[in-house]
Amino acid sequence: MNHIITIDGPAGSGKSTISRILAKKIGYSYLDTGAMYRAVALVAKRKGVGFHDDKGLGILCNSLNLQFDRDADPPRLLLGKEDISGLIRSPEMDMLSSKVSAVGEVREAMTGLQRKIAKGSGYVAEGRDMGTVVFPEADWKFYLTASCESRAGRRYEELLGRGETVLRNVVEADLKKRDNQDRNRPLSPLRPAEDALIIDSTTLTIEEVVEVMLNHLKQS
Ligand code: C5P
Repeated sequence: MNHIITIDGPAGSGKSTISRILAKKIGYSYLDTGAMYRAVALVAKRKGVGFHDDKGLGILCNSLNLQFDRDADPPRLLLGKEDISGLIRSPEMDMLSSKVSAVGEVREAMTGLQRKIAKGSGYVAEGRDMGTVVFPEADWKFYLTASCESRAGRRYEELLGRGETVLRNVVEADLKKRDNQDRNRPLSPLRPAEDALIIDSTTLTIEEVVEVMLNHLKQS
């Protein structure tokens, strides 16, 4: 059986960067499940499917041709032949992805796709429900967290780096709102799996977090 490592946590906790580095170090593939929900939001917006139209969103999900190009570093997300990696990273897509991800039909389709993708080789899978719902039998589970202030700070820097014009307090308010939605939805809410190692990265560097994870993998 292939090995799965799950990394869950709120926005801005450093999951993506850390998951990518960890996967590279141990020769695993990396699965960014947030990108998949972001793709659903982008396509729903383009096609004018309402964010409360559960049935319409379900149909949309089942017709999506989503693929990761793993030869690129970081991996690119393709919708058919279109590279949508940049388009899904806007503040608008932050909020819209959180909305569509609360819909049962969307979660069902994405969960199926995520399990299918992760078959056959070692994967570091990051998201909100990797350890609790999608891969409950994962070999190792981590839950990454950090203070709201430091998560907002990271997100702010990231958006500035992408050339977005944003205000620090707006970024923090949006992050709080999104976390709140993700934590309090009835389906697959953001929470640590009971058997996850919880790591608070507020005062740790990325390298230090990866080190904690590698030590944990060696020990267990
Ligand atoms: O991780 P990222 O910020 O890219 O995720 C975007 C949104 O997708 C999250 O705010 C969350 O609502 C949703 N998501 C989810 N389950 C996952 C990954 C992401 O509901 N496994």
